[in-house]
Parts: sequence; structure tokens; C-alpha cells
Amino acid sequence: METEQLHAQDAYLRSAEAKVLRIHGERGLVLDRTLFFAAGGGQPGDTGFATRADGTRLAIVDTAYLPDRSAIVSTLAEGSQLPAPGESLHLTLDWERRFKLMRMHTACHLLSVVCPFPVTGAAVGEEESRVDFDIPEADVDKADVTARLMAFVSADHPVFTRSITDAELDANPGLVKSVNVRPPRGSGHIRLVCIGENGAVDAQPCGGTHVRSTAEIGLIHVGKIEKKGRSNRRFRLRFGSPSV
Ligand SMILES: [Zn+2]
Repeated sequence: METEQLHAQDAYLRSAEAKVLRIHGERGLVLDRTLFFAAGGGQPGDTGFATRADGTRLAIVDTAYLPDRSAIVSTLAEGSQLPAPGESLHLTLDWERRFKLMRMHTACHLLSVVCPFPVTGAAVGEEESRVDFDIPEADVDKADVTARLMAFVSADHPVFTRSITDAELDANPGLVKSVNVRPPRGSGHIRLVCIGENGAVDAQPCGGTHVRSTAEIGLIHVGKIEKKGRSNRRFRLRFGSPSV
């Protein structure tokens, strides 16, 4: 991986210095390091801006991996000036948006604890997230799920990451809750996101960004549970209290 991912160690970083390695395509920036999360695992790519030495701001509208995951590319807004390879940039994250995504993403982990069924899809959004579960019986009530989610939020459980080996993951296949997304192999280590003391509430492989305690999620509720196919249920998570 050409791009060091500062946010993997500290999801609360809001700005950082980086150097341009090269321009990818028409307006893709490949940097030596970044704090912009590259889209993956249902979480969208980060946005923000890069400031040049002369003070010019370059808007970053999306961040993604190259298809072979060898580097991260931040896409500049259309019509942007292009910095030169070797140039230093000051990166600033759209923190307001990212923090909402971190809160939502962590809430999706809690939802998979409240609903311990295989996850068949997920999309984290700023205002609404959706998680699809394979639930054979439609015996789920959104008020009940919301109450149990909020109990985890109020309990203010710590959220932290630890690294396990591929072999440890193989010995604990139950850690993987997603049917379609397999944790990346090959590096020998897998990043496990844990909730609660020693991961007592939950532990699952994930490369996303999360809040450091469940209380930071704040008020959240299940806005809707839709039936998508015979055994598929789509849950929509929204911030705030349920509107009665
Ligand atoms: Zn996650």
C-alpha cells in the first residue's frame, strides 16, 4: 500500500500534512499519507480539502482505493488546479460529515448485536444508514430494536480495535457477520473492531472508522423495517428520536 492510512490508528484526526506522489487519471491525487477514508465495507469515501503552500484550497469530493488496493486516490473537484508530484499539501477533513458517518457506522455494529442474523448488505450514510439481514421469521419490532440499541448507546461502552491473525479468525468464524464481504486476507493480520470491555458486546472484522465510545452515537432509532424478498429485512437507521 503506497498510501499510509493515518485514520486507521486515529479516526479523530481532522488534518494532516501529506506529499503528492502522483496524479492518477484526470484529477485523482495519490498521496504518501492520508486521513481520508477510502470507500469500503458500506462506508462512503471521505471529502474535504487540500491546501497548497500558497493558500489555494483544492476541494476533495471523494476518496477510493485503486482497484488493486495498492494506493488511495482522493478525487479533486472538477476544474481544480493540479498540484505537482512532490508538492506538500495540508489536508483537512470534512469532519462534520465524517463524524456522522462514524456514529452511524458504529450504530450499525450495535444493530448487528441486537439482530444477530447474517448481514447481507449495508450502506452507511450521513442521515440514514441501511443494513440488510437474512431473517427467516419476520419477528422484529422497530420500537423494540430501537430500545435495545439505545440501551447499548446509553451504557457508554468503549469501542477499540485490535489485530488478530488469519489463523485466529479461522478459529472463530462466528466473528464474520457479513455474508458478502470477506475481511481482506494476505497481510497476515485482520483488524477487529471491539465494543465493550474486552469486546464483550461485539467483535467483528472491519476497516471502517468508528467513534471511541457508544455514547458518542447519540440518539438513534430504527425508522423503518422493510421486507426485501422472502427472508431479507432492510433496517433503516436514523439519528434522533423516533417521530411518533
Ligand atoms: Zn465497522
